[in-house]
Amino acid sequence: MPLLVMKFGGTSVATPDRIRRAAKRVGREVAAGHDVIVIVSAMAGETNRLVGLVDDVSPLYDAREYDAVVSAGENVTAGLMALTLQEMDVPARSWQGWQVPLKTTSAHGAARIEDIATDNIRAKFGQGMRVAVVAGFQGISPEGRITTLGRGGSDTTAVAFAAAFGAERCDIYTDVDGVYTTDPRITDKARKLDRIAFEEMLELASLGAKVLQTRSVELAMRYKVRLRVLSSFEDNDERAGTLVCDEEDILENNVVAGVAFSRDEAKMTLVSVADRPGIAAAIFGPLADAGVNVDMIVQNISEEGRTDMTFSCPVDQVARAEKAMVAARERGEINFHELVADKDVAKVSVVGIGMRSHTGVAAKMFQVLSKEGINIKVITTSEIKISVLIDRKYMELAVQALHDAFELEKAA
Ligand code: ADP
Ligand code: ASP
Ligand code: MG
Repeated sequence: MPLLVMKFGGTSVATPDRIRRAAKRVGREVAAGHDVIVIVSAMAGETNRLVGLVDDVSPLYDAREYDAVVSAGENVTAGLMALTLQEMDVPARSWQGWQVPLKTTSAHGAARIEDIATDNIRAKFGQGMRVAVVAGFQGISPEGRITTLGRGGSDTTAVAFAAAFGAERCDIYTDVDGVYTTDPRITDKARKLDRIAFEEMLELASLGAKVLQTRSVELAMRYKVRLRVLSSFEDNDERAGTLVCDEEDILENNVVAGVAFSRDEAKMTLVSVADRPGIAAAIFGPLADAGVNVDMIVQNISEEGRTDMTFSCPVDQVARAEKAMVAARERGEINFHELVADKDVAKVSVVGIGMRSHTGVAAKMFQVLSKEGINIKVITTSEIKISVLIDRKYMELAVQALHDAFELEKAA
């Protein structure tokens, strides 16, 4: 029987009523002749609540126990969804990640999927089960510990299942009706895109657009999964939502496809480090070992053999970064006068494949920000994106001004 993967995010399973509504959608696909693998997130707010409990008990927590706690939200929803389907006379059962098993690396809190066993679930389909409900976001490490895939990781679970089972489609049901030119919560001028290229979606996701987890887009691109984002609150027809597809399948590309932002960034500067071979390795090695996700890096021009090194990271990793840098100084590996943390910055990025062939996008972006009186603290670019770090209080203003300047309200 043809197989579909349907993923429901937190707001789509926030209450028993919403679970029933999602289950009805699943039931319709079953009635139309599909076997379905349903991937569920934790109920809205639940993962944040669990993360909060961990932070309360142990601020510099053991990542293995963090995973044991925060993976629990999805277990509840998987069981509730299976029960709801059974109440509708749809043969269904739930699986936690380790039962599948969905095997991952042991990078707790940000594990990568290595393998998904399919025989167990396939056998049950063969025995009359029509829906396998799988807890998203979680797996099991080679050491037999529970792992999680990073925030938003249920998207990645869904795409990985679609690839492993050769599903016809992977439909991501969420609280917006597709991928927009920017987060529709920031400006009502945001437009839904009917299609977006994998490369653009990959950049938007990695630069902060939460609608899909970055890794899910990578997997869909690699394994050619037909990936759609659509609303769990509206009726969807064949053309609803946004299809994430190859560049060639989009007739006309805008120069800029969208504006992404990441609110909770921090900028850290090591003031006056020795400018010598190996200094970057001596700084960023220990940061990586401490699990700090360094993003932008700027090294200043040196004066009398000393320089400043600036980097950005998520604001909730500042304490870890400080600890790692102070420890490296105590070990005598680096020497700096001061470590300055600016915890009130945000990153704003414009993304578009059209930048490969159009010049002037960066200049226009800088002019727009200058006109709004917004100071740029750090800039990075790649082939299809430009990112700037600015004061967090100007983030919304910057996104709206850029959305206007690149005429994204005309996109479709
Ligand atoms: P789910 O719980 O269903 O996984 P998420 O909250 O993770 O949902 O992702 C959906 C949210 O992503 C939307 O509510 C929206 O605010 C946000 N978002 C950010 N950027 C975009 C974008 N470009 N297009 C659509 N949604 C976006
Ligand atoms: N529940 C997890 C989170 O909130 C995973 C997900 O929803 O995708 O990050
Ligand atoms: Mg999500």
